[in-house]
Amino acid sequence: MRFLAERERICQLCRSFWQLGWASGTGGGISMRVGDTLLMAPSGVEKENLTPADVFELDRDGCVTQAPSGGQRLTACAPLFMAAYRHRDAGAVLHSHSLDVVLATMTVPPGEPLRLTRLEMLKGLQGVGYFDMHEIPVVDNTALEHELADRMERAVLQWPQSNAVLVRNHGVYVWGRDVAHAKTQAECIDWLCRCVVAMQRSGLSHLTHDRSQPDDVARERAALAAA
Ligand SMILES: [Zn+2]
Repeated sequence: MRFLAERERICQLCRSFWQLGWASGTGGGISMRVGDTLLMAPSGVEKENLTPADVFELDRDGCVTQAPSGGQRLTACAPLFMAAYRHRDAGAVLHSHSLDVVLATMTVPPGEPLRLTRLEMLKGLQGVGYFDMHEIPVVDNTALEHELADRMERAVLQWPQSNAVLVRNHGVYVWGRDVAHAKTQAECIDWLCRCVVAMQRSGLSHLTHDRSQPDDVARERAALAAA
């Protein structure tokens, strides 16, 4: 079987995401790029029981080049994954239904992004610093997953500094240069969303006891620019 190690990695991530509650009820999705081939977990299956033979192969245009033999359906996330492969040269794109992410999207007014600053795990996001006001776009949900594709594509183009698009009351699409990077980006976003929800619940602001000085902000900007 081609790409066996990569297929096994997708299965392992599906199990891990299922245990985190990010892919329960057949939800969520995982894909990765190997050269010019895209690998995608199928739709509507128990993610914790996926096997390497269940994984689809697609070309860079999103056309299926090899389908599993058991009648599995291509993930409904495929058109959304393609937005990150096409426009951001992603090496992997993940989709989670994390409850913390879902709750965080509910705190964002319509038409606005989720704004984050002065939270430790911002430093784990690509090109983002602790003092930055980082914006992650939020698009409204639709009845069918594939109908989100146009909104996802617009958000990807409008927020080039973000490695993720949040979907209100639904979850997040997040990508990275490879599957390990995409996974850590997803973990950082999950932590940040959990923090946002906990702060709101507690009536806290990230600025309440902040003692940072303009010098601190300038030093971080210079370090990020040099990186
Ligand atoms: Zn979904």
